[in-house]
Amino acid sequence: MNTVFRVTSGDPSSARTGELVLPHGVIETPVFMPVGTAATVKAILHQRLKELGFHLILGNTYHLYLRPGTRTIRSLGGLHGFVGWQGNVLTDSGGYQVFSLAALRKISDDGVLFQSHLDGSRHMFTPESVVAAQVAFNSDIQMPLDVCTAHGVTEREAEEAVLRTSAWARRARDAWLIERDRGYRGLLFGIVQGNFFPSLRRRSADEISVLDLPGIAIGGLSVGEERGLFREMLFETARHLPTGKPRYLMGIGTPDYIFDAVEAGMDMFDCVFPTRIARNGTVLTPDGRLILRHEVHRNDDTPIDPTCGCTTCQRYSRAYLRHLFKSNEMLGPMLTTEHNLYYISDLLAGIREAVRADSFPAHRLAVLDRFEEGERARRDRR
Ligand SMILES: [Zn+2]
Repeated sequence: MNTVFRVTSGDPSSARTGELVLPHGVIETPVFMPVGTAATVKAILHQRLKELGFHLILGNTYHLYLRPGTRTIRSLGGLHGFVGWQGNVLTDSGGYQVFSLAALRKISDDGVLFQSHLDGSRHMFTPESVVAAQVAFNSDIQMPLDVCTAHGVTEREAEEAVLRTSAWARRARDAWLIERDRGYRGLLFGIVQGNFFPSLRRRSADEISVLDLPGIAIGGLSVGEERGLFREMLFETARHLPTGKPRYLMGIGTPDYIFDAVEAGMDMFDCVFPTRIARNGTVLTPDGRLILRHEVHRNDDTPIDPTCGCTTCQRYSRAYLRHLFKSNEMLGPMLTTEHNLYYISDLLAGIREAVRADSFPAHRLAVLDRFEEGERARRDRR
């Protein structure tokens, strides 16, 4: 239904490139989406995101619904008008934040009752109200309300969450179809849950796939489990997803996990990781992470990465960046965010090029070996 995705190279069931046609422009995949929780990717101008090659950013329904509120955003022209962003926006369902941030959650078949983490006010999210909020935002891609479970719950609890997630996805789909008939152009993706139980993952994948939504996401991974288990669940789930639709792995953003995801045939990823560590003074380089606050950079006049083409690396030394962080100057996070997003944009461009050239496995090994070697060296120095 409304399939707006085309695989352009690679093996449809594993590493692949594609084109995703969205209301605010075409996106080349695999793609990383910077997270703009409160309608801003922290410490960087929207214009700059575009120049760095990001045409699809993420916003959080939970946060935007609470502040400034759905009505305000709708009256100001949806997220695009409110923000002045001409690219695409994906909004999550708010489910993850309700389960991780809000107090006093009460789940019923109808939806989830929760208390705002901001002022304690009470709110109810239902599959229908979450679709309506994202229509008010005019999200280019919206996600349905789902039930996230923590690593370590019983199989029975995980199964209940899968059943509810499927039932809510069916209701979200019905609500979304009505909005489509009224002229809303955004897409609704489904979310596969199932915790760390392979049979539940398969079941959830089947139940969500059958809804024939324009795209499909894997939720509930990379929540603190070890890498081996993450990979096992990722590949097991990915095998059961339709190959002709965009596949989104939610909440990952480190280079190793991005490579794992592409290897499994995933097309889209998001994570606060590159921007959050940037604001703490940690930057990504081909040779691993660099912690700018470290004493070793005090008199270092070299840039973060001499081979990097970003404006931070063209103009500023590690010594100056260290000084900015030591002095809590706001320019510090701005410059490191710029660099980390440039790094991620470049990483994804390299991945797409390698898939097109049919050399993804070798490219993956070369990039990750170098990155991990650098990480080991940094740990040994300490
Ligand atoms: Zn740079």
